[in-house]
Amino acid sequence: MAKKNRGIFAIAMTLSIGLALGAYVGTVGVENISLIEEAQAAGGPVKSPTGVAEDRYVYYPGTEELGPDEMRVIACGTGMPAARHGQAATCFLVELGNGDKFLFDIGTGSMANVAALMIPYDFLDKVFLSHLHTDHWGDFDALWAGGWTAGRAEALKIWGPSGAVPEMGTQAAIDGFMKTFHWDYITRLQKLDPTAGKIEVTEFDYKGENQVVYQENGVTIRSWPAIHSGDGSVSYALEWNDYKFVFGGDTFPNKWFIEHAKDADLAVHECMMLPGGGVEFYNQAPPVALYVFTQIHTSPQAFGKIMSAVTPRHAVAYHFFNEEGTRYGVYEGIREVYDGPLSLATDMMVWNVTREGVTERMAVATEEAWSVPGPRKPPAGKPGQVPPQITDWINAGKWDVSDVEAGMVGDFMKKYDIKPPKKH
Ligand SMILES: [Zn+2]
Ligand SMILES: [Zn+2]
Repeated sequence: MAKKNRGIFAIAMTLSIGLALGAYVGTVGVENISLIEEAQAAGGPVKSPTGVAEDRYVYYPGTEELGPDEMRVIACGTGMPAARHGQAATCFLVELGNGDKFLFDIGTGSMANVAALMIPYDFLDKVFLSHLHTDHWGDFDALWAGGWTAGRAEALKIWGPSGAVPEMGTQAAIDGFMKTFHWDYITRLQKLDPTAGKIEVTEFDYKGENQVVYQENGVTIRSWPAIHSGDGSVSYALEWNDYKFVFGGDTFPNKWFIEHAKDADLAVHECMMLPGGGVEFYNQAPPVALYVFTQIHTSPQAFGKIMSAVTPRHAVAYHFFNEEGTRYGVYEGIREVYDGPLSLATDMMVWNVTREGVTERMAVATEEAWSVPGPRKPPAGKPGQVPPQITDWINAGKWDVSDVEAGMVGDFMKKYDIKPPKKH
C-alpha cells in the first residue's frame, strides 16, 4: 500500500524530533520508545547499526504489492521532442489494483523507463495515444519489437484518434508503421510466433466528447478532443473503482478538459516552461517560442487556471525539461493562479492513489533491467511461415567458427535437450 505522503512525513519528523528530545531529557523508558516509533510511522527508525531503514521514501519497482483498491501511476516520460538523457518524452503508466495496466503515450526514449520497472511485457499490451507527434509515440517500436522478442504472448493493442482525413488517423499511422518496419517484422517472423508481432488498432472519432473508447473489467476509458497543432489530438479519462485518472496529452486549454476532467483524483496536463526558456534553452526564435509555448501548448499560468477550475485531488504538470533553469518559473507561474496539490513531473515520479490520499515519490530502478517472465509463455517453436530471408549468396560468405564454438554449443544443446539445427 501507499506510504504516507511527504507532508505527513514532515509533520511526523517534527513531532518525532520533539518527542525524541522529550524522551531524552526524561527517563528513557518503554513508554517513551513506543511514542517515538509511532511518531515516526511515516518511515520508522533504524533500530540498530546493522538494521534496515524501513522506508526510504522511494519506490523500488516490483517490491510493493498494489492494493486491490489502489491505483499507481508512474511517469515514464515527461519531457520534450528533443531527446535528453535525463528525461524521456511523454509516457504515463497506470497500474490498477485489479491487475490491469495501461500506457498513455509512449514518447521518444520512454521505453527505457518502462523497461526499468521490470514488468512482464505480457502485462504491457495496451497503449492509448493522445496524438501522433513523435514525442508521444516515438518509442512504440521499442515496445512492439522489444516486447515481442522478450516474452509478450499476445498482440499489442493500441487505441488512438482518427484525424480530419483518414491518412491523419491512428490506423493509417500503424499501417505505415508496419510498412516502415516490414524488414524487422519479416525477419523476426522466421523464429518468433506471429501472434505477438501483430498490432490491433482501435481508431475512434477524435471529435467524440467524453465518449467511451474502452470498457472492460470494471475500467472505463473516455476521450474528448484536444486543441493542438491539428485535428486528431485527444485527452483521456480512465475511471475505475471510483478513481479517475485524467491524461490531457498535448493541448491548448479547452472547454472539454474543464468539463470532463472535473474532480479527477490525478489530473495530468501538459505545462510548458515559460517562453523565455524556449529562447534561452531550446534554440527557438522569440516569436516561435511565444506561439508554440502559449498557443500550441499550455503555459504555467494557463495550467494554473485549468487546475483551479478542475480541482483535482492532485495535479501533475509535465512536458518541459524539469531542471534548475526552468522549474522555478513554471512553479511560480502556476502558483500565481493555483494553490492546490501539485507535482512538477519528471521521469520515474510515482503516485499512489488511495482513499486516504495521493502520494508522490520517485522510483529508483536499476540501470540494467532485464525483461521479466510473466505467467504466460509465448508459444514456442511455431514461428511465422515465411521463407528464409537469407539467400545462398549471403550464406556462402559465412566463415567457419564451429571448431571454437563446438564445446559451448554442445553443452547448451545438452542442457536444453535441443536437436542439431539444420545446416543452411
Ligand atoms: Zn504534440
Ligand atoms: Zn508533446
